[in-house]
Amino acid sequence: MKRFYKDFNQFKVRQIYTLLDEAGIPCTIKNEFIAGASGEIPHHEALPEVWLLDSEWEPKAKALMAEFEQDVEAKDVQPIDWTCGSCEQTNEPQFRICWNCESPRAV
Ligand SMILES: [Zn+2]
Repeated sequence: MKRFYKDFNQFKVRQIYTLLDEAGIPCTIKNEFIAGASGEIPHHEALPEVWLLDSEWEPKAKALMAEFEQDVEAKDVQPIDWTCGSCEQTNEPQFRICWNCESPRAV
């Protein structure tokens, strides 16, 4: 067993677990439901954690994780103007359709 990841954000831990699980990496979650009920357990020991059943999976898990974090960042912000595919109007990044011809933004 090897601890791979821990975070106070249970949702994110669950996402990482699902990511690894779907890639066929044997792993498990610890402390998932302990937050809030931990009482005397020091907070840092009660964080949800993802464990790999075998440390030989670690390089693959880390590669997946890096891809995952890149994806998250890419979806977060795209602070660049985009050009409409229909009328070639330049639009600001916050718009999802072209202000000129209302064509949806190409992904
Ligand atoms: Zn347009």
